[in-house]
Amino acid sequence: MSSTAQIGVTGLAVMGRNLARNFARNGYTVALHNRTNARTRALVEEFGDEGNFVATESAEDFVAALERPRRLVVMVKAGEPTDAVIAEFAPLLEPGDMIIDGGNAHFADTRRREKELRERGIHFVGTGVSGGEEGALNGPSIMPGGSPESYDSLGPMLEKISAKAKNGDPCVTHIGPDGAGHYVKMVHNGIEYADMQLIGEAYQLLRDVAGRSPAEIAEIFRTWNTGRLDSYLIEITAEVLAHTDADTGKPFVDIVLDQAEQKGTGRWTVQIALDLGVPVSGIAEAVFARAVSGHAGLREASQHLAGPSPRAMGEDEAAAFADRVEQALYASKVVSYTQGFHQIAAGSEQYEWNIDLGKVAAIWRGGCIIRAAFLDRITQAYEAQPGLVSLLADKGFAEEIAAAQDDWRTVLTTAVTHGVPTPALAATLAYYDSLRAPRLPAALTQGQRDYFGAHTYHRTDRDGTFHTLWGGDR
Ligand code: NAP
Repeated sequence: MSSTAQIGVTGLAVMGRNLARNFARNGYTVALHNRTNARTRALVEEFGDEGNFVATESAEDFVAALERPRRLVVMVKAGEPTDAVIAEFAPLLEPGDMIIDGGNAHFADTRRREKELRERGIHFVGTGVSGGEEGALNGPSIMPGGSPESYDSLGPMLEKISAKAKNGDPCVTHIGPDGAGHYVKMVHNGIEYADMQLIGEAYQLLRDVAGRSPAEIAEIFRTWNTGRLDSYLIEITAEVLAHTDADTGKPFVDIVLDQAEQKGTGRWTVQIALDLGVPVSGIAEAVFARAVSGHAGLREASQHLAGPSPRAMGEDEAAAFADRVEQALYASKVVSYTQGFHQIAAGSEQYEWNIDLGKVAAIWRGGCIIRAAFLDRITQAYEAQPGLVSLLADKGFAEEIAAAQDDWRTVLTTAVTHGVPTPALAATLAYYDSLRAPRLPAALTQGQRDYFGAHTYHRTDRDGTFHTLWGGDR
């Protein structure tokens, strides 16, 4: 077999198949491989005329079809299958070759795999890919980690197949060494959870308190999508809310079971945030909200619990309330991105990745699920002040939240009064207020810790470590 393919893709389910087609449509010759050969044949039968494919049916033929240094994209189920595929292919590769893992791997696995393969001279490029199957085909946002040398070789190809921001910039950059790409993809997904939950809470308030129908709320979201909330998630939310179930004629949103599922990247984000001590309360509440929704028995058994039932407002009040919800949603969104970027900065410091936060925001402007107009603002904020400690310290964002905060508080007061659960809206406001509080009750916490455990404390008025001899015989 002659080595003519510039890139190979193994794992041809929805993601791998579309990524392979994307490379081929962009003029690359693509070697194809899948554990079950039928998938490879199906791809060539259906889409063979889209470009140059080299279909192979064995690992040896697949590797032999690749130009050197070989670039081998793995798009298999994350976890053990990825290790199995590496074990199968690595012995067939040579120093300088690259294995690009585009699955949703945990970054700790990526760090382990990168180290093992580096010792054999093989570049392992853990790569976050966002945008679902449509993105994989038409241009995803791509977050590659791995060595700078591997990016020199791969970068131009990834730039070609990636989504493009409105100004034409490719939505890909070298994120940093080893697991940096998968880490950033993980936090991307965590932010996605928060974004979706915040939108859900806004919807519930518009429905229960402003008394709007799903179709009316779809229109409200469409209007919001022309302003600063302009984003893919707001756009598709309007589509979902406007959709009517063909069987019943009811709003689609009313016939779907209200139990949200998750695949794990949101949970990983929060687990790692706990390890690093980064407060990502908006993301955490979003993950917990999905968990609460899934506890059907607990919810069923709690239906008798006392509390107010939401009452719809009058028309004038409801219209004004909808505007306030937009302010609250925007402010909470800024805070949840602030928390996510803090987590990226903390991971970058912990693992010495040297991640450019402005570039991360820039490559999320197109292709990915959280693409949004306001990411431009985040890039500008980090470009203007590379050492920016928090997005909330950026003057522009601080001013916007200052203008939104009265409405933000009113919306939450209203939610509490009506008994509408708004965990992510509330957690993000609490985070904002915690940061601006001149004193936190942590001083009392320290006193309690010193009392029961002699954990000591620091004083405001002098240096040193102190312990008080508390009364009783503790
Ligand atoms: P998937 O359902 O996660 O995985 C199916 C693919 O994995 C098939 O090609 C399957 O081969 C292969 N596979 C499973 N176990 C294997 C093993 N032990 N050895 C070799 N191959 C094995 O497919 P997907 O939805 O296309 O996702 C692929 C990767 O992209 C995943 O890691 C996923 O997390 C990630 N991802 C998905 C999305 C999305 O929107 N779906 C977005 C971003 C990233 P057979 O055909 O032989 O069974």
